[in-house]
Amino acid sequence: MITVYEKTLELQTTDQTLRVLTHKREKHVLVVAVRECEEEIFSTTNAQEQAKEEAKQKNKSLASLDRDVADITSKLQRSQETLASGSVSSAKGVASLETEIAFLNEKRAQAEDEQLEIMEQLEALEVQDKLLKEAADAQSEKLARLQGERDLALASIDDEVASLAVKRTTLSTEIAPELLEKYESQRTQFDGLVLARLQNGICEGCHMQLSSHLVDQFKNMSPDDELLCEECGRILVAV
Ligand SMILES: [Zn+2]
Repeated sequence: MITVYEKTLELQTTDQTLRVLTHKREKHVLVVAVRECEEEIFSTTNAQEQAKEEAKQKNKSLASLDRDVADITSKLQRSQETLASGSVSSAKGVASLETEIAFLNEKRAQAEDEQLEIMEQLEALEVQDKLLKEAADAQSEKLARLQGERDLALASIDDEVASLAVKRTTLSTEIAPELLEKYESQRTQFDGLVLARLQNGICEGCHMQLSSHLVDQFKNMSPDDELLCEECGRILVAV
């Protein structure tokens, strides 16, 4: 017996098969491996960007220290020249210049220490960058290999999914628009089972024994009529 629900039932079965296949695909060991590899690549890229940013900041600090050192050096030169020129004759003046020279020397030594420290950090970052680049290259190679293996392993599932998708499109055009809309909008709510067969008074959707009144109503109605399960609200259809 062909009812208005026939094609929708077929669509529902198609969707259920698609769901099983999608699940199977998602859980496939190679799909998982590809995903993990993509995550590894993502974190390597992040680490590379972070290292790059860090190096940029350190180079900035280094440039600023270079300016500081140049500045201190010229001040130091001026003070040393003044001292050597003998233009400051008072003992107090000489002492003050000597203190300043000592202070500037110390300040320059400090800045130079900082420069060295940053240069060492930059070298370490360079090494890290090289290692990360090697890791990224290896991960890209691994990803390409895994993707190839995955595509090969999933070829039959993918073919089936593709042909079911075509079937789905065709079926969709063969179902009355209102019914199709109802089916599509209730799929999530009813966990994919919008239409439920009624067998021996039991709803296939909620597995509840329905009242004899409803079962009688179902038996006596036209197969194209709409009768909802009193327990779950699914559309009841004949086997
Ligand atoms: Zn039900």
